[in-house]
Amino acid sequence: MSKYQNRSIVLVRRPVGEVRDEDFRTDNEVVRDLQPGEFLIEILYLSLDPYMRPKMNDVESYMPPMELDAVVQGENIGRIVESRSEKFAVGDIVTSYTGWQQYAIVSDETPMLHKVNPAGLPLSVFLGPAGMPGRTGYMGLTRVGDPKPGETVVVSAASGAVGSVVGQVAKMNGCRVVGIAGGEAKCRYAVDELGFDACVDYKAGNLAADLGAACPDGIDVYFENVGGDVSRAVAPLLNAGSRVPICGYISQYNAKDIASAESPFEVFGALPNPPEHRFFLVFEWDAEHAETTQKLADWLRSGELKYRETVAEGIDAAIGAFRGMLRGENFGKQLVKIADA
Ligand code: NDP
Repeated sequence: MSKYQNRSIVLVRRPVGEVRDEDFRTDNEVVRDLQPGEFLIEILYLSLDPYMRPKMNDVESYMPPMELDAVVQGENIGRIVESRSEKFAVGDIVTSYTGWQQYAIVSDETPMLHKVNPAGLPLSVFLGPAGMPGRTGYMGLTRVGDPKPGETVVVSAASGAVGSVVGQVAKMNGCRVVGIAGGEAKCRYAVDELGFDACVDYKAGNLAADLGAACPDGIDVYFENVGGDVSRAVAPLLNAGSRVPICGYISQYNAKDIASAESPFEVFGALPNPPEHRFFLVFEWDAEHAETTQKLADWLRSGELKYRETVAEGIDAAIGAFRGMLRGENFGKQLVKIADA
């Protein structure tokens, strides 16, 4: 019998509004023996990502909903501790979508499984700035936003995992960068540490006027992360020929009925001269996964790309940390540490 004991968090009912502890169950079981071709991952960090909340609803969108009575889905990073695979060896570090648990059995054929070469970087960055959110920010900005030197780029959720990469890459491209974030500390961080030209605190109560003052030449690229009031404040400032990559709209993710919640498409589509706008999914550029990860990791190593993390401790902290992230309590990438790296 295996010496490993797995603790996992299972979705037992569809949350209404914010997630509650009662929407989940914790299971404990001994890890079964491996079959040929399989290997066992000891999970080190869970990635908490906003998209996971709409996936808990019973709504078919671009991704199927999470199943009830199954481990909460999500990405993590871990180390292989047992292997009967020809391709993956004990000691390899991998990212996989094996969810909220301490151990996971996968096989060579498991989709969205990637070997990681940390080369001196902390493992957690492969869930953040050199991981899925980093690739989202980089690809969404450069491929959909197509920023040109001298243009004004605005990004919401600016201090977060995606937004912080968007703003820093836009600066590398010679743009004027204005962030939108919740609270003075996050705005100060965007300007003082990430090098944005300005950052507007949407919680200060004067969003439309403050954003107008921060964007005297209008907005050429708006990278949409939050929707709602923020989209409505951005819309009148968009220049002719502007582009709006729609990455997400977190302000609506806890909506009781997300299907009828206002989406950025309604806001931008209703303008007399709508900007070029489309939703994109990071997986559109999966073929470039390795080179984009490498580029982001190189920038982290050289110090050109900065990041921040909020780390909750232990699997039992996952639900509370997830609830907090959707309230903006995180500062930078939200992770849960499961075991020592
Ligand atoms: P963050 O690290 O930015 O964390 C979420 C942040 O959202 C919070 O810290 C908070 O920041 C902000 N927020 C929460 N509620 C609201 C609200 N009501 N109004 C305004 N802001 C709010 O998360 P990520 O960087 O991981 O994700 C950012 C966006 O990118 C999300 O919309 C997500 O769904 C999307 N995404 C899309 C992908 C794709 O392929 N299309 C892939 C990955 C992410 P603050 O305190 O500043 O308000």
